[in-house]
Amino acid sequence: MAWVKMFKKPGGGGGGLKKSYQPGSMLSLALTKGLLNEPGQNSCFLNSAQVLWQLDIFRRSLRHLSGHFCLGDSCIFCALKSIFCQFQQSRERVLPSDSLRNALAETFKDEQRFQLGLMDDAAECFENILERIHLHIVSDTASDSCSSKSCITHQKFAMMLYEQFVCRCCGASSDPHPFTELVHYVSTTALSQQVDRTMAKTERLRSDMFGELLQAANNTGDLRSCPQRNCGQSIKIRRVLMNCPEIVTIGFVWDAEQSDLTDDVIRSLGPRLNLCGLFNRVTDENAKRSELHLVGMICFSSKHYSAFAYHTKSSKWMFFDDATVKEIGSKWKDVASKCVRGHFQPLLLFYTNPEGTPVSNEDAPRQTTMCPRYKGHVNGET
Ligand SMILES: [Zn+2]
Ligand SMILES: [Zn+2]
Ligand SMILES: [Zn+2]
Repeated sequence: MAWVKMFKKPGGGGGGLKKSYQPGSMLSLALTKGLLNEPGQNSCFLNSAQVLWQLDIFRRSLRHLSGHFCLGDSCIFCALKSIFCQFQQSRERVLPSDSLRNALAETFKDEQRFQLGLMDDAAECFENILERIHLHIVSDTASDSCSSKSCITHQKFAMMLYEQFVCRCCGASSDPHPFTELVHYVSTTALSQQVDRTMAKTERLRSDMFGELLQAANNTGDLRSCPQRNCGQSIKIRRVLMNCPEIVTIGFVWDAEQSDLTDDVIRSLGPRLNLCGLFNRVTDENAKRSELHLVGMICFSSKHYSAFAYHTKSSKWMFFDDATVKEIGSKWKDVASKCVRGHFQPLLLFYTNPEGTPVSNEDAPRQTTMCPRYKGHVNGET
C-alpha cells in the first residue's frame, strides 16, 4: 500500500503540500509532516498518533509533562514525546514512526498485538495509547477512579457514565451501573436506520441533530422487560453523563469491511456535537452548555487507514495518508465530499471543546522513574 502511494506520486503529495509549506516557518513545517510507512511496515494505523498531535488540548498537555513511570524500550510515553518533538523541530517533511511502532510491539508482545510488519486496528491502537498514558503518569491500574489532575486520559478524554433501566410506566428501575468510556462506540447500521427514520419524518437532516441520531442509534435494541413483576412493559436503557470531557471520541462499528452505508453515514456526520443530545441526561452544568467541534477523523478504505485533522491556526482541514499530507479546504463539507469520492469509512471522530485547556501538571510525577518490573505487573492485570 505504502509503496504505491510513495512512488506513484513523485511530488510526495502534489500541490497541497507546496501551497501550505512556507520555508522557515516552524508552524507550517509541523503542519505538513507525514509519517513514514515503508513497504512491509504496515504502520498506517499509526495515523491515530498523527491525529493526537493535531489535537491542541492533547499536544499542549503532553508538552507540559515530562516526569513519568518509564518502561524504557517499551515506553509509549517516551515514544510519543520523541515523535512530537520531531513534529515540532525536525526539518524533514516525513518522519520515521519506528519509536512508537517498536514501543507498541514490545508492550503488546504477549498478546501478539501491534507486532512489527503486521497491520492492526487503529481504534484499538488509539485506546491503548490513552490507557498507557494513564499508567505512565499515574502508575495505578485502577483507572476508573483516576482523579489525577495531570492524567490526560481521564481529565480530557474519559466519559464518566452510568446506565440504568427505568420504567416509565411503573417507575421501577434497575441498579445504576457506572463505567468509564474513552471511545463512545455506535453501530453504523443502527445509525443509518435512524437517518432513514428521520428523513421519512422531516425530509431533511439538520447537522445539529447528529448527537440525537447517535443516541437513538446507540439505544436501539437495548430493551429489557420491566424488573417489576406484573408490569410487563419493555423499557429502554438510559445513559447519563456525569463529567464534562473536553475531547469526545466517537467510534463507528461497521458490519462489513466495505459497506454501502458509507455515503449515508458520511452525510449524517455533524461538525458540532452537543453532549445533551448524545446522552439521555447530562448532570454537569458545563457539560450541559458545551458544544464540541469536530476536529479529527480516522478513516478506513481498502484495508488502509488515513486521517483528517483540522488545523486551528490556519483554519484548514488537512489529510494525512502516511507520508502524504494534503490541504483539503476550510469547510467540513470539503472533507465529506473527499470521503464520499474515496469511499472512506469513518472509524473514529474526534470532537473537542474549543475552550479546552491543557492538563495541570501540579500533581504530575516530578521525575522519571524507571520501572523494570512494571511491565510484568501490567500484563498480569490485563
Ligand atoms: Zn518513558
Ligand atoms: Zn488516569
Ligand atoms: Zn414497569
